[in-house]
Amino acid sequence: MLQRYQDRGEKIIMQVNIQTKEYPNTVSRNVVAEVKGKEKPEKTVLVSGHIDSWDVGVGALDDGGGAFISWNALSVLRKLNLEAKRTVRAVLWTGEELGLIGVHAYNKAHKHELDNFTFVMESDEGTFTPLGLEYNTGTKGGCILKEIVQLFSSINATQVKYNGNGVGSDITIWSGKIPTASLLNANQNYFWYHHSKADTMDVLDSDTLDRCTALWTSVAYIIADLSEEFPRDFN
Ligand SMILES: [Zn+2]
Repeated sequence: MLQRYQDRGEKIIMQVNIQTKEYPNTVSRNVVAEVKGKEKPEKTVLVSGHIDSWDVGVGALDDGGGAFISWNALSVLRKLNLEAKRTVRAVLWTGEELGLIGVHAYNKAHKHELDNFTFVMESDEGTFTPLGLEYNTGTKGGCILKEIVQLFSSINATQVKYNGNGVGSDITIWSGKIPTASLLNANQNYFWYHHSKADTMDVLDSDTLDRCTALWTSVAYIIADLSEEFPRDFN
């Protein structure tokens, strides 16, 4: 609306009454679950979303959808009785909105095993119609991802998009260190809902979420089951 005022050449004067309060910190926790790998259980592919949300709406889009497909990925693997060579772990980060607090705490607590993180994924930019993957890896890693998404032609989710600035939200702390990817989806209307009262359950569509889950689960499983280690170099 303001943009339209401005485009018409109108002078905009705004008075903003902000009544935010900052409360003392309290305890909150990341939620973690995993399906152990059968050959290299110490090697881990991580899928994630964040479990906290903004104070208006219910956080269905940001980030209920991302948290849901990550949790559901493990559920699907269990139901299909699929055990990959490596462990697939789901983490639902807490405290993302206030500054990636959960992931920083996790990074500190899991320092000893970061070398074993094969691939890290987070969906935090919508779970609309899935299109493929956005990624931050080296060239060889990008080629592997490009091959993997060719498997999703039946749902038209065969695109890959490199993002050198990092992908996801929480997982950007590992950009350039651990290969990462997020869900590329038709999220052009994301900011209609993001951090607003409109972020309610009706933003999510169950068939679309199923397709997002299918892509998310399959990518995690395929990478966790590769015969070679996913390349860690960023050249
Ligand atoms: Zn978010």
